[in-house]
Amino acid sequence: MKTKLHERSLVLLKPDTIQRGLIGEIVARFEKKGLKITALKMVWPTKEMAAKHYDLPESAMRQLGERTLATYAEKGQKHRTNDPLEIARDIMKKLVGYLSAGPIVAMVVEGVHAVAHIRKIRGATNPLAADMGTITADYAVDSYFIADLQARAVRNLVHASGNVEEAETEIKLWFREGEIYDYDLAIEKILYSKEWEAK
Ligand code: ADP
Ligand code: MG
Repeated sequence: MKTKLHERSLVLLKPDTIQRGLIGEIVARFEKKGLKITALKMVWPTKEMAAKHYDLPESAMRQLGERTLATYAEKGQKHRTNDPLEIARDIMKKLVGYLSAGPIVAMVVEGVHAVAHIRKIRGATNPLAADMGTITADYAVDSYFIADLQARAVRNLVHASGNVEEAETEIKLWFREGEIYDYDLAIEKILYSKEWEAK
């Protein structure tokens, strides 16, 4: 039964996931968690599509810049600017190149509290700061510092929607409703229902 807490999230396995041969391992992490994949396809995004995906509201841009500045401050390093929006705009340009560099895998992943669970599985944006056991910690050696030095986006393998509103906007961008399937998993019917308690 779908409760109000049932959410959908957009997950993109970025070009580095495909190049690293990690599609299976990463999809498996979401499956094993008990989340439901309701759409999945390979796409080679155009630059326009990548730009649309990363056309973020100012609040998200500011957050991205502030997070980057906080990382620098934590390590006692100085960024070339203190303006979070300038940092974010600079990163956005690079992101378009990163996301459109090769084929990616786009998925809709669903479940109760799906957005938060998926963000936890993906781990921190910056692999250097990520907790072990997360995708960014387990499979990536990148950091904001080295990405900045080389003037590129941080290679963190997976995009996952940041909140429910972002998820709904992003899902509409990547999928037609007919490509998303509505079906039940055994886990929903028996495990997370009152089936056992009713006996
Ligand atoms: P998230 O993927 O955690 O939602 P954002 O939406 O803030 O992160 O940023 C989008 C993407 O931009 C990140 O996944 C990462 O690839 C890249 N990125 C973010 N901050 C930086 C940074 N300081 N340096 C290089 N790339 C960055
Ligand atoms: Mg984001």
